[in-house]
Amino acid sequence: MKCPYCNKIMDEGYIHSSKTDIRWTPKNMTPGWRYNHPKSCEKLLSKVDFFNGSKVKVFRCSACQIEIIDENNLQ
Ligand SMILES: [Zn+2]
Repeated sequence: MKCPYCNKIMDEGYIHSSKTDIRWTPKNMTPGWRYNHPKSCEKLLSKVDFFNGSKVKVFRCSACQIEIIDENNLQ
């Protein structure tokens, strides 16, 4: 994936969590308290399980210090 700011190739990697799911929550909203069961206004990016935790594929541009998550590329 190319960085939308500088057009260089972005580095592929992951954001990990060992204990919680990973979700997007709208500004001014509090996250739901049940893992793997997001509120209707939230977007669950990765479920958590006991053995593997959770992770989301993220593309990073170190020059611009920007990260991008593609929801079409979630596991
Ligand atoms: Zn960049």
